[in-house]
Amino acid sequence: MRACVFTLGCKMNEVESASLMRGLEERGFKVSGELSEADLYILNSCAVTAEAEKKSRQAIARMKKFNPSAKIIVLGCAAERNAEQFAKREGVSLVLGAQNKDKLFSLLKEEGVFCETGRDFCELPTPKRTKTRAFLRVQDGCNHFCSYCIIPYLRGRSRSRSAESILKEAKNCGAKEIVLTGVDLSSYRDGEIDLAGLLRMLGEVPARIRLGSLEEGVVDEKFLEAMKDAGNVVEHFHLSLQSGSDAVLRAMNRRYTREEYLACCEKIYAVFPGAAITTDLIVGFPTETEVDFEDSLKMIDEAEFSRVHCFPYSPRPGTNAYKMGDLPPKVKKERMDRAVQASQEAQKKYLEKFLGKELSALFEEDGGYTENYIRVYAEGAKEGELCRVKLIKPEKDGAFAEIMEVL
Ligand code: SF4
Repeated sequence: MRACVFTLGCKMNEVESASLMRGLEERGFKVSGELSEADLYILNSCAVTAEAEKKSRQAIARMKKFNPSAKIIVLGCAAERNAEQFAKREGVSLVLGAQNKDKLFSLLKEEGVFCETGRDFCELPTPKRTKTRAFLRVQDGCNHFCSYCIIPYLRGRSRSRSAESILKEAKNCGAKEIVLTGVDLSSYRDGEIDLAGLLRMLGEVPARIRLGSLEEGVVDEKFLEAMKDAGNVVEHFHLSLQSGSDAVLRAMNRRYTREEYLACCEKIYAVFPGAAITTDLIVGFPTETEVDFEDSLKMIDEAEFSRVHCFPYSPRPGTNAYKMGDLPPKVKKERMDRAVQASQEAQKKYLEKFLGKELSALFEEDGGYTENYIRVYAEGAKEGELCRVKLIKPEKDGAFAEIMEVL
């Protein structure tokens, strides 16, 4: 039997799909991640923007075209949000939400079943690894209810995977780099073990550890000390900002001020002077004035980000921000252009600090990433090789590098 696991959306979906692919392979399926002809389709859907939901619906139409008699199973956030709508679509056999993916295998034979909401962390098979990096799910759900975000309604409250299970998978996965992922990684807790404690435990794993998205509140002296002591955690912090204006942060129900955020960056630079701090920025939140937006632009400079992912605000029905309206598309587009330009300048500035310097880089199919998340391209680089490289000059979205030594 041929199965296709098609994924839209975030890293969590990617990791969960990789787990499902492995589980299907273990059950004798020939599995593909690309939309192609198959007997069983699993769509891991996304609802983070209206566009993502549209893509989920379009994917079902394409699956039907490839094989009108195939079984289609829909999982993920869009399915959680609009289960009935997805269930009514021709060809869809089963709709599971975002919280019950672990039930897939036991429900595969029961067409048309909706299952009740689960509350525990879903243990899934170890993801199928396609690259030199392995993504390791450590947490799911979120308790924060940022006013623009639908995720807590779809993925439920925060729950963490046991540290023992994480350590076991990290030791056995064989990857050279492990990326810890979670919807709200910062809230990780297994009994007495918080994220700092987990990092200490993972210090014994022979791989470099990269952290997924963090909230400002988790980064304190204890956390930075744990990173240092572990010795294998790379100096890259993806610290969600979302806005540089206190008024907008309040309207977003974020839990810090711009000063607190900047103080957090200072703490990081004090311990890791070359650290890469990357971030997400929402542009054109309904209450965002020109002055608020300029505060966000200033923040890009002040925090010395190495990379900024800018997103135009997308209203999500069911959230508190939805009731606040929406800015005219023209305003959002104009601000997005300025934010993207500021982000490119910040990236260039950060890269310049490292030209002529040596760093370690882990190469994938097309280029690789240094420990501080600079994209590098090198002649003779082989997928899966960890190398000491010298950064020579800017190239595409990163730098051209010379391989000094294979580590
Ligand atoms: S922290 Fe905020 S933005 Fe992130 S998942 Fe939770 S509610 Fe959404």
